[in-house]
Amino acid sequence: GPVLGIEASCDETAAAVIDGDGHILAEMVLSQLAEHEPYGGVVPEIAARAHLRYLPDLVRRAMANANVSYKELGGVAATSGPGLIGGLIVGSQFGKGIAIAHDLPFVAVNHLEAHALTARLPGLVDDGAPFPYLLFLLSGGHSQCIAVMDLGQYRRLGGTVDDAVGEAFDKVAKLLGVGWPGGPALERIAAEGDPDRFPFPRPMLRRPGCDLSLSGLKTAVAQAVARLGDGPLERAQRADVAASFQQAIVDVLADRAVHAMTMMREQFADADLIVTAGGVASNKRVRAALSDAAGTCGFRLVAPPIRLCSDNAVMVAWAGLERLRRDLRDDVSAATLPRWPLEALSQRSA
Ligand code: ATP
Ligand code: MG
Ligand code: FE
Repeated sequence: GPVLGIEASCDETAAAVIDGDGHILAEMVLSQLAEHEPYGGVVPEIAARAHLRYLPDLVRRAMANANVSYKELGGVAATSGPGLIGGLIVGSQFGKGIAIAHDLPFVAVNHLEAHALTARLPGLVDDGAPFPYLLFLLSGGHSQCIAVMDLGQYRRLGGTVDDAVGEAFDKVAKLLGVGWPGGPALERIAAEGDPDRFPFPRPMLRRPGCDLSLSGLKTAVAQAVARLGDGPLERAQRADVAASFQQAIVDVLADRAVHAMTMMREQFADADLIVTAGGVASNKRVRAALSDAAGTCGFRLVAPPIRLCSDNAVMVAWAGLERLRRDLRDDVSAATLPRWPLEALSQRSA
């Protein structure tokens, strides 16, 4: 039957219903932009309270739009980690409550697994990306290259040793004062700038493996901004810094992706899909560069539509459905885990 998905791990309150084949019946996302904007970042306590306020009505509307009653559901899936503990508790307890009230199976979804499995939604790649594939996860909290071998079977090939890519975008955006959330604002202003104006470092370029490091780049941007003078930068200067920063990121990501695809081929000779996910995957220059890199390596890039790259509940419902299809359900006493690496799932689903 249909699956209800609930996502409240960060600052998006989201609910979605998919049918038993994974087709989307309803999807709702409420970004808490106004709540957090005055602070220039997500405030965990405010996020948790906002989830509490928004979720009941959002779920009610998702169910109404899907035209599905609770007793028709095949299960309830709620993000139970990793993320901000307050929101995770609100979302997962809400899902558990519905499951208990209507005697439905509950799935405690790992948010990263939900990003990882999005490419398997029917319609994105034919009937869904077949295993194994390479996942290049580029979000606000994570930047990792992962071999997705099977449901629950993940092998980390590399990742950031310091900042996540989205975090770097957000920090540079804050430095430039281009607005919040930083990533999309930075992409917009970068479009007006000269990407060659500032020769920012490309850390880790051509280094073996597929680790990445972004804190040196961030520091170089801060130093360049400081050298431009004390007062607020002119718009054209901000655009040049943004464009040059974005270009450095794009070059690093393309190089790291090529290395990750090479590693993937060594371990899985037939692998030919690279899937990108996470909010940064909605950046047009990043998508174009990854697509080129994939072509170079004889891989195909799968980039989900932007609304499915950033946080959403469709991916949570889908991860729940994939688990329910294999009879992998969780007890309503399942823990809520602020830290929950993908590789920890391998033990769980065996
Ligand atoms: P995680 O999934 O690791 O818990 P998260 O849920 O905060 O982190 P997402 O919602 O997937 O991450 O992505 C948000 C991040 O993506 C933010 O850091 C944001 O700045 C970045 N981002 C969103 N759109 C763009 C864009 N167009 N260009 C660059 N970065 C972007
Ligand atoms: Mg978010
Ligand atoms: Fe996310």
